[in-house]
Amino acid sequence: MEERKILIIYTGGTIGMVIDPETNSLVPFDFENVSKHVPELRRFDFQVRSISFEPLVDSSDMNPEIWIKLVGIIEENYSQFDGFVILHGTDTMAYTASALSFMLSNLKKPVILTGSQLPLGTIRTDGKENLITALEIAAAQKNRQALVPEVCIYFKDKLFRGNRTTKYNAEHFHAFRSDNYPPLAEAGIHIKYNYPYIRYTMLNGTFRVAKKMDTNVALLRIFPGINKDVVRAILNAPNIKAVVLETYGSGNAPTKKWFLEAIKEAVDKGLIILNVTQCLAGSVEMWRYETGVHLLELGVVSGRDMTTEAAITKLMYLLANADSIEEVKTNLNKSLQGEIYI
Ligand code: ASP
Repeated sequence: MEERKILIIYTGGTIGMVIDPETNSLVPFDFENVSKHVPELRRFDFQVRSISFEPLVDSSDMNPEIWIKLVGIIEENYSQFDGFVILHGTDTMAYTASALSFMLSNLKKPVILTGSQLPLGTIRTDGKENLITALEIAAAQKNRQALVPEVCIYFKDKLFRGNRTTKYNAEHFHAFRSDNYPPLAEAGIHIKYNYPYIRYTMLNGTFRVAKKMDTNVALLRIFPGINKDVVRAILNAPNIKAVVLETYGSGNAPTKKWFLEAIKEAVDKGLIILNVTQCLAGSVEMWRYETGVHLLELGVVSGRDMTTEAAITKLMYLLANADSIEEVKTNLNKSLQGEIYI
């Protein structure tokens, strides 16, 4: 059997960071530092190669231009490698995983993002086990077919669908959760794959890479007491095409006249308003309460059970790659990459 090959793409993040003696804060460091602390990289029964970003990025500096660079690297190396592991800071990992899931269509090979809460150089690091298991998962095959041909996040002991994941803990090794979709695998003594939940549906389509993202989107998270000027400023921001409205519970928002008028004006002038819930679990169901029905009647689109990260990146992807606003709206109501329950 031909030897399997996995490519590590090192973008930065705590996993490879070291303490800067001058500022005493963590700064990104080169891949040599990563491989030095994980000699196991040479012990797998598959080949591991690596590419490093130059410069490395703390994931707070992640942006759509870098996502385009990332999918470009995957495209260039797609035929030579059986899977990809992206080392990435945890802070925006869920955004990158969501974005990549939309930018890489008909993916037949695993793209596993991982990182760590403690750098590899520290004794109690979680980075080593995260990296080793992410590599195992990226290389896992049955009859030469990848076991998980999806963009995923592997962290602590769980593999999640990337576009269902949120970072929720800045301290625990269990830093991510995916409340609206079960883990795709769990790692203990064995790695147990949750086959019925893994997407194999697109295995016949041709792999496609989108290299455009439209950043004219905004996020409006409501709270009791939110003021009119703030709402209007966001809805009227120059060039804005879509707003993710983070509402309460099952998609509810204030019924104050000024608020509903601002939403109506925005929808009337062609802005897409996508309703997602501030809750970590559950779905938007605007028909449930009067406070949601108003939004439905005004033409607000339901984001159902999508995460905010998936909603924002799905809009960036659709606005840049769909042919019309109608096509954007139709696709918002579809599951493109398993990001939404239809
Ligand atoms: N600030 C770091 C980053 O996101 C945090 C981490 O990697 O966990 O790049």
